[in-house]
Amino acid sequence: MATDILMIHDIVASEDRTRTSPWKSAISRSEFETFLKNRHADDMSSLLTFDDGYASFISIALPLLREHKAKACVFIATSFMDGSREPYEDALWKHINGSDKVDACGLGVFPCKRTTEKLVAYERIRLHLKTLSLSQRDAWMISLAGHPQPQNPADMLFLTAEEVQHLASEQLITIGSHAESHTTLTSLSLTDAILEMRHSKARLEAVTGRSITDISYPYGASNLAIRIAGFLIGYRRGFLASRNRPRTAWLTPNMAIPRADIRNVVPGIR
Ligand SMILES: [Zn+2]
Repeated sequence: MATDILMIHDIVASEDRTRTSPWKSAISRSEFETFLKNRHADDMSSLLTFDDGYASFISIALPLLREHKAKACVFIATSFMDGSREPYEDALWKHINGSDKVDACGLGVFPCKRTTEKLVAYERIRLHLKTLSLSQRDAWMISLAGHPQPQNPADMLFLTAEEVQHLASEQLITIGSHAESHTTLTSLSLTDAILEMRHSKARLEAVTGRSITDISYPYGASNLAIRIAGFLIGYRRGFLASRNRPRTAWLTPNMAIPRADIRNVVPGIR
């Protein structure tokens, strides 16, 4: 446990996680606070990482990290900044949650009366959408739900560029890239995957005024070509989403750093 680099996503204020979609992996504030209090001295140097750039990082995580002097790296999916884009997973879940039946274009018609049926439809459609480019995904969401974006500004749950700039000046915090549009990089052409990594790096460097050298691959998906390309672009550390290293990781070890989901390794966090 002491050597694990921990992966965290959203943190919610209460134990009630019903408003979040199933993919979000949110933990509660009290779980996180208890974890920080119980950390042993030899755990203090281990790195905490936060994926996606949720607004809760500033409202909930940061005050606790400051109090406990814990370091963290926040990986930003740059197209989520400024409320310009919500991850399609939320829009998809809201659509399915509010429907009795979902006609998912080429994937078939899914009954969605029961929660179990909704979850089946959600997982199947999400499996398809997470491999698409941003424009393909938007087109798909428009045909499915009528819009690719959240309709309610209160649904904008991500850090703005201004907030990311402010975070970059925090001593305990490092900003990293989570690519641009949160697409599985391995499903894109290598050229498009490179553009995702380059655009995100350039945008974050413009926002923070700092060199951005860390990347967390969306969904943890990388391959050797992507890891080498990432290194050539200027990244020096690439983070996976599990403890399993790919077979070719030894060729670029710093671009394939394993992480453990905090919910899987810290007792008391589910
Ligand atoms: Zn992510």
